[in-house]
Amino acid sequence: MTSEETGVDQAVEKALKEMRVSSEVYWGATLHHPNDLPFEISKLPEVFTQFRKAVEKESQVFPTFATPEQLPALPDGVEPGQIPTLSDLGLEENPIDPKGVLQFKGGETAAFARLQHYFWDADCLQTYKETRNGMLGADYSSKFSPWLANGSLSPRKVYEEVQAYENQRRKNNSTYWMVFELLWRDYFRLVCAKYGRKIFRKGGIRGLPINWQADWKRFDRWREGETGYPLVDANMKEIAATGFMSNRGRQNVASFLTKNLGIDWRWGAEWFESLLIDYDVCSNWGNWNYTAGVGNDARGFRYFNIPKQSKDYDPEGKYAKHWLPALENLPAKKVHAPWKLQPEEQKRFDVRLGVDYPNPVVDLQKSVEANERRYQEASDRKKNPRLKNSLRLTG
Ligand SMILES: Cc1cc2nc3c(=O)[nH]c(=O)nc-3n(C[C@H](O)[C@H](O)[C@H](O)COP(=O)(O)OP(=O)(O)OC[C@H]3O[C@@H](n4cnc5c(N)ncnc54)[C@H](O)[C@@H]3O)c2cc1C
Repeated sequence: MTSEETGVDQAVEKALKEMRVSSEVYWGATLHHPNDLPFEISKLPEVFTQFRKAVEKESQVFPTFATPEQLPALPDGVEPGQIPTLSDLGLEENPIDPKGVLQFKGGETAAFARLQHYFWDADCLQTYKETRNGMLGADYSSKFSPWLANGSLSPRKVYEEVQAYENQRRKNNSTYWMVFELLWRDYFRLVCAKYGRKIFRKGGIRGLPINWQADWKRFDRWREGETGYPLVDANMKEIAATGFMSNRGRQNVASFLTKNLGIDWRWGAEWFESLLIDYDVCSNWGNWNYTAGVGNDARGFRYFNIPKQSKDYDPEGKYAKHWLPALENLPAKKVHAPWKLQPEEQKRFDVRLGVDYPNPVVDLQKSVEANERRYQEASDRKKNPRLKNSLRLTG
């Protein structure tokens, strides 16, 4: 989809051609086929809602192909061979952390089993919209993303199951919302098709010349989950241990990196790329563009208030304690802001700030203000190129 994947496709086609093997390429990655869109990709709306409304009204999701009952025999002289194991490829099996949300297993059979469980057996689809912002446990959201990312599961298959569920059980906001989220996935693919390599650039799709910080010390504290902000730290420990993080977590840690630490958003995107088991180039870089405020549909400087998010989405602190055992004895209302613990409380709850759990890496309010100023300066420079020149001269 982006330059590296297209490069691989072309190399495969070239190699096949040299072997005189014909090949055909089919688009199966999205709900809506690019040919069916009611606009050219170059005219893709900048705002997701406009895109969604247009496709909901004027495009349709094509049915999946039936599974072939048999396949033609391999040509003479072609041996099927064995699928190489990880060790054949010189790689080691990654240990599965028992604290993870799910013991993910690859392949289509496991993907279909998860679909069956989430929609039908556990009947989670009917409450998906209310639970999808959770962070702890297997069933707050579908967890389809790893299978969708590596092609074991088609979004159109998910769509058809949603329709079947609506016909056989019930249709409500939650069933709609599952398809709504898949449309975000489509949208980021199309954004990448429209903007190409721009999604990887420092200024993002908007080309906003933000003076991002290259602060390794703070970046290390972020990626190691040592910022002193439990919601951020628990999520960063989770992704490092399991390769998965909830959507709520991803939005918060990305906001913290860019809006509190002011660090180049691409460092965060690369860190995610190196860890996520659902890594998807368009969803990852598209969401990072968006959260850093350099993507399409950016609505000014917006940030997540971390302690408030922690209270709203982890009211009893169960998620934080799951990944941060140092906070285990804290009562629920103290877990969101451990830096406020008095020395006497630290003793009582058996946690020493700066020893068992870190002091905050930055002051929340001051850091947000500083980064908002940087953001505004960049927006002004972009609007007024003369200002850009004078800053260059003086800077
Ligand atoms: C900074 C950041 C980076 C991200 N990187 C990735 C990534 O590399 N790969 C990836 O698949 N998703 C990514 N996401 C989107 C989202 O966080 C995950 O798709 C979601 O958490 C996966 O869990 P789930 O399957 O249980 O989601 P559910 O809530 O059950 O959603 C169902 C499906 O809808 C799609 N979806 C949901 N939210 C989004 C979204 N915001 N953008 C695109 N598709 C979405 C996914 O395919 C998901 O599997 C990222 C989000 C952020 C904020």
